[in-house]
Amino acid sequence: MDILQNLVHMTGQRDHLRLEFSVLSTLMQLTDVLQVRALEIHPFDGRVWVRPRTWMENGQLVNSESDFLHDPHRRPLSDMPLLLAGLERKQTKIEHQTGDNLYTIWLPVWMHEQARVCIELTQASVLTEHSRDILLAIFQVYYNYQSLLDYSERDALTGLLNRKTFDEHLLRLSNSVQKSTDQSQQPWLAVIDIDHFKQVNDRYGHLFGDEVLILVANLLRSSFGSQHRVFRFGGEEFVVLLHPMTLDEATHALEHFRSTVQDYDFPQVGKVTVSLGFSGAHMQTPSPTQLLSQADEALYYAKENGRNRVCHFESLQAQGILNKHEQVTHNDVELF
Ligand code: GH3
Ligand code: MG
Ligand code: MG
Repeated sequence: MDILQNLVHMTGQRDHLRLEFSVLSTLMQLTDVLQVRALEIHPFDGRVWVRPRTWMENGQLVNSESDFLHDPHRRPLSDMPLLLAGLERKQTKIEHQTGDNLYTIWLPVWMHEQARVCIELTQASVLTEHSRDILLAIFQVYYNYQSLLDYSERDALTGLLNRKTFDEHLLRLSNSVQKSTDQSQQPWLAVIDIDHFKQVNDRYGHLFGDEVLILVANLLRSSFGSQHRVFRFGGEEFVVLLHPMTLDEATHALEHFRSTVQDYDFPQVGKVTVSLGFSGAHMQTPSPTQLLSQADEALYYAKENGRNRVCHFESLQAQGILNKHEQVTHNDVELF
């Protein structure tokens, strides 16, 4: 009955982390469970890494305090060769018995051909057939629910994260900025807008316009990969949240994307360009709203000054080009 109540609770969640807490606390109810953990799996810097994100401590579930990049418990996935091998074989369940009477079962959460999260259960004895059935059923409910949640957070045309999820990501980012002590690196927010997109629609029709949006989204995904967050903000506007890096690195990454679009041959349509504006999420930025409007101001400047270029808010401001207290009013995006 406890488990049923837990399932009811689990499917009432609207947030990935709470859902994760909920599934792990449900699994803790199974007999002989010694440990439950949610492992986060991430490619970064040419390697694949793993870290525990949520786990049980003194009978309570706890969450990692730090973000993925700064987590001291992050280690190469190759340190867990059995898990690595199972993931490479795209297994949905990996079981493993260690010498000292511990039994571990890993349940990767496969989504879009990738497993970014893996549920881990460690038991003192081999699972009975009955407990195994219950475990797999709980996992399946969690998985189905996770898929629904994922679907609701994505834009239907491009598959990028949608506007709705942006506020939450930005809030999380600004919280991590508050905690960070490293001043040389900071997260960045870039707003990207396709140049003269109306003309694409007018000349080639809406369907080709849509295809350009999908292709630009694919270029964004391949340029910024899994380390950064890419959103479709509405229409032909996109937003990228870059993880902490230096100004030079951010400028380079965004310039690289701009030139990738410029060089790309769009079927039928031919050449398309994008303009970008970006701003740093440092301690002095008063609010997420302001950060967004600063990036927008830089984008507006890029549009007014030739398009197909990347403009950095703080640099324009330092040159006296942008008025410090000027608020953007041109934008059709409503600020939250
Ligand atoms: P600029 O270089 O100044 O950005 O010019 P623009 O023509 O791109 O600017 P504007 O923002 O005025 O035009 C955006 C157009 O994007 C208007 C709208 O018809 C089109 N659009 C918005 N959403 C979609 C969509 O989902 N599909 C297609 N095909 N077009 C869209
Ligand atoms: Mg626009
Ligand atoms: Mg445009």
